[in-house]
Amino acid sequence: MRQKLQYLVIHCTDTPAGRPITSQMIRYWHTVERGWKQVGYTDMIHLDGRVERLVNNNDDEWVDPWEITNGVAGINAISRHIVYVGGKGGDTRTLAQKGAMLAYVRDMVKRFPDIKVAGHYQFNPAKTCPSFNVPEWLISVGIEPKNIYLP
Ligand SMILES: [Zn+2]
Repeated sequence: MRQKLQYLVIHCTDTPAGRPITSQMIRYWHTVERGWKQVGYTDMIHLDGRVERLVNNNDDEWVDPWEITNGVAGINAISRHIVYVGGKGGDTRTLAQKGAMLAYVRDMVKRFPDIKVAGHYQFNPAKTCPSFNVPEWLISVGIEPKNIYLP
């Protein structure tokens, strides 16, 4: 059964700064090495800012069963997960990635005014993903507090 989209969760690939990652690689890590049914993220932001869709999505306010990705256990049925390439050891986002991520977040909050944007670590204290303070960044780029997830 479909549920309403509530969270946009930001992740990193946890790979070194400047190293390109392909969708084939991330799909392999998740579905073959980890044995997940589906790759963990809907969209991937490449080093040059290109946004690549990994899992089909009709971009409406519902998370259909075929749209679910495995970013954070327990909230996947109500979340959209996105990932930027990099993040190993810290915030490695390129200027192009920051711009693309901001455009992505702005588009999502415009279309889904009640959505809350979060970082993976906010749902799992054992994680540092996506290697930057997500609420702080969102505030710094002018996202409204109502769209910033704070537990
Ligand atoms: Zn993550």
